[in-house]
Amino acid sequence: MRRLHVLAVTPEVFPLVKTGGLADVAGALPLALRELEIDTTTLVPGYPAVMAALTGAEEVRAEPALFGGPARLLRATAGGLDLLVLDAPHLFARFGNPYLGPDGRDWPDNAMRFAALGWMAAMVAAGGVVGIAPDILHAHDWQAGLAPVYLRYQDGSHQDGPHQDGPHRGGRHRGGRRPGTVITVHNLAFQGIFPAELLSALGLPPESFGIDGVEYYGSIGFLKGGLALSDRITTVSPSYAAEILTPDGAMGLVGLLRTRAGVLHGILNGIDDTIWNPAADRLIASAFSVTRLNRRARNKAELQDRFGLTAGPDTLLLGVISRLTAQKGLDLLLADIGILAELGMQLALLGSGERAMEAGFQAAAAAHPGHIGCIIGYDEALAHLIQAGADALLVPSRFEPCGLTQLCALHYGAIPVVSRVGGLADTVIDANEAALTAGSATGIQFSPVTADGLGGALRRTAALWRDQAAWRKMQRNAMKHDVSWRRPAARYAALYRDLVRERTA
Ligand code: ADP
Repeated sequence: MRRLHVLAVTPEVFPLVKTGGLADVAGALPLALRELEIDTTTLVPGYPAVMAALTGAEEVRAEPALFGGPARLLRATAGGLDLLVLDAPHLFARFGNPYLGPDGRDWPDNAMRFAALGWMAAMVAAGGVVGIAPDILHAHDWQAGLAPVYLRYQDGSHQDGPHQDGPHRGGRHRGGRRPGTVITVHNLAFQGIFPAELLSALGLPPESFGIDGVEYYGSIGFLKGGLALSDRITTVSPSYAAEILTPDGAMGLVGLLRTRAGVLHGILNGIDDTIWNPAADRLIASAFSVTRLNRRARNKAELQDRFGLTAGPDTLLLGVISRLTAQKGLDLLLADIGILAELGMQLALLGSGERAMEAGFQAAAAAHPGHIGCIIGYDEALAHLIQAGADALLVPSRFEPCGLTQLCALHYGAIPVVSRVGGLADTVIDANEAALTAGSATGIQFSPVTADGLGGALRRTAALWRDQAAWRKMQRNAMKHDVSWRRPAARYAALYRDLVRERTA
């Protein structure tokens, strides 16, 4: 089998820069693909955290004027990945969240910042860097959405020469054939929509502003363009792939997505089990495994201590690790927070996001000392301890493309209590009568996603907890569930190979 070469384009990659699940995917998928004869080079923006982590950086291209300033493309390694880094200080030398300024709002020049990423990707894909000849250009989310767009318009009649502050045509494709293009939607809620007036500043030709290009209800849609012009579309679970073909789930893109349903695939995410491995996790108080489950108790004690909860092994401890936004549905828990005391449960919540929700959980913790603990912030180590010490992990999302926290929870024996949507529906086996009889349950699912639905799920959870033998069985099932990248990586590999075959046929 010929080795394939993929150019992955992503605005974040673990362990260098992460705001959510996309970073985990971008960091782990290349490692899993390597064993399947697929090499990945990952193109990322040169944020300060990325620049600081590089080893052996070598300049492979210089652009004197890329969207308003000089830029360099560096080839380097970090975090076990082969990287191309877009070092453009005028766009990316900013600390903190990659998308938001210090006032918590989008950077005003985000269109230019991520157009630069897409443009550079297209240039590399077209053969603009010696020694890199990708078979596949794989763009992740709206921030990379223009990569397949620039690549497509290089192909066609748009032959303008370089212009000073915009992207200009890069190199030549190998044998005149452009690489196959794939775009992955990690969350359709984020689409990268910008004013139409930016079209020429973005270096996009007038003909790109149409129904088959970047035009989106009179504006420019980065994700929309990528979805319209990529050879394949993937999203991160089969259920979410079906949901985004419905008017409710498609977030304004139902027409386009339905016309492209034939090339749309749902491929679940995995987790990196070298980072998430309860038997060798140095971020937790006590390593454990499915055959040494009793060692989990020390993590629970430590977690109760960290969150100021009353010590005790018998109280069901519910964990939450989440962005606090409407998507994640945690306002449903706040709406009826008294239910936790009623059911004799504790809550350890780690999260950050909308101020009102942060304040709501802080107030709940103050009102229920010893029963509700809340830490506002982002803390990777504490996330590990929650997975290792909580008895159950709550994920009540209104929609969830894949979700990673429930996968980690399965692996760490924290029983996931999840809404029946998207990837949550595809990864958790509900403890209904059939599954309990078959001995296959791994968690609790609920629907509809309302405060009542959640209340019902918490009551079922409390009832299951009272049967400790059944609970242990569920925990063991959960920990044996395959959450690795093995199966998902094989599906990406098959998709890439299929596309390469199609394009060379
Ligand atoms: P999303 O990408 O929508 O935020 P996912 O479940 O796909 O949700 O991925 C979230 C990732 O971010 C997980 O790896 C989770 O552990 C991590 N995470 C979320 N919030 C926090 C936090 N406050 N502290 C530490 N890790 C967090």
